[in-house]
Amino acid sequence: MTSHRVRLRPEIESIVPYRQGRTAAEDAFKLSSNENPYPPLPAVTAALSQSSINRYPEASAAGVRGMIGAKFGISPEQVQVGAGSVAVLAQLISAASAPGDEVLYAWRSFEAYPLLVATAGSTSVQVPLTSDGRHDLDAMAAAVTDRTRVAIVCSPNNPTGTAVTRDEFERFMAAVPSTVLVLLDEAYAEFVTDPDAVRGEELLDRYPNLVVLRTFSKAYGLAGLRIGYAIGAEYIMDAARAVAIPLSVTEPAQRAAMVSLENEPDLLDRVARLAALRDEVVAGLTAQGWSIPAPQGNFVWLETGEHTMDAVGAFERHGIIVRPLGGGVRVTIGEDEAVANLLKAAEEVVSMQR
Ligand code: PMP
Repeated sequence: MTSHRVRLRPEIESIVPYRQGRTAAEDAFKLSSNENPYPPLPAVTAALSQSSINRYPEASAAGVRGMIGAKFGISPEQVQVGAGSVAVLAQLISAASAPGDEVLYAWRSFEAYPLLVATAGSTSVQVPLTSDGRHDLDAMAAAVTDRTRVAIVCSPNNPTGTAVTRDEFERFMAAVPSTVLVLLDEAYAEFVTDPDAVRGEELLDRYPNLVVLRTFSKAYGLAGLRIGYAIGAEYIMDAARAVAIPLSVTEPAQRAAMVSLENEPDLLDRVARLAALRDEVVAGLTAQGWSIPAPQGNFVWLETGEHTMDAVGAFERHGIIVRPLGGGVRVTIGEDEAVANLLKAAEEVVSMQR
């Protein structure tokens, strides 16, 4: 019998689409998507009201790229901007990795990696995290083959929160062939307080195959507008531009990003408050008996094993929506007012595990 179905790529049909952290009822705290709890700066709101919606955006986002370039002391051509850093990540993977090629990354890590690799028709090579939720960079370097085109390192790692140290990252860069594109995903960079953690922008000069990814979604609180970026060698950014969907970075997003860069000190004050709150929460959790490997993003990871769905329920009873991710729950550091409930729920969960 003739099939009436369109023939789709089989590797695409087997992908489970990206699932978002649950939205919350109005009286609950939504701590499931690592969002910033603060409202936009008044200057951002004012800039948005001046956006011209009936016109297409400036296609190359030259204004934002110029400001990002100035921030890092590089040329605007070394900056690529996309509709969220996840869009730039997709561009870079498909620019470097063809069907049959391999993309290497740690697992667990950001949920989008396997989807983006499968979309490029490439093969994911997942290297398990260490038992304390850290990247095993020596094992990752050992997993490089002559098919490896891209290696992704996520620091701080979503969902475990651990940061890679500068020393271990440099050892990794030295071990990986310079023909492999290394993507250092630093979506949560601004929340990092560990002085030994890697800071990608300091290493770009030294490693020409390194590209660093950052976003306006987390520290800058613009998740809903969708704007993120990559910095690295100009020819790599040109390749990302070549595969980008045209005009996908909207004018409101470009304006909001520029105003945010102009007002960066105010935003970084908020980041410092969230990082301090994170450390307070970690101290509270540690006192309850949780063992949490020093989180460096705006979230904490609780290993709940077989009790994961019970843990989700316990948090929900305390008015908190968290994100279950195989074997644990990830809890965003959000509103101050959520902390007491967060700790109460965590205490209940720890007693389930005893
Ligand atoms: N990288 C990591 C590690 C993330 O956790 C996220 C968001 N959850 C992203 C990239 C993508 O962020 P965005 O597309 O909003 O910039």
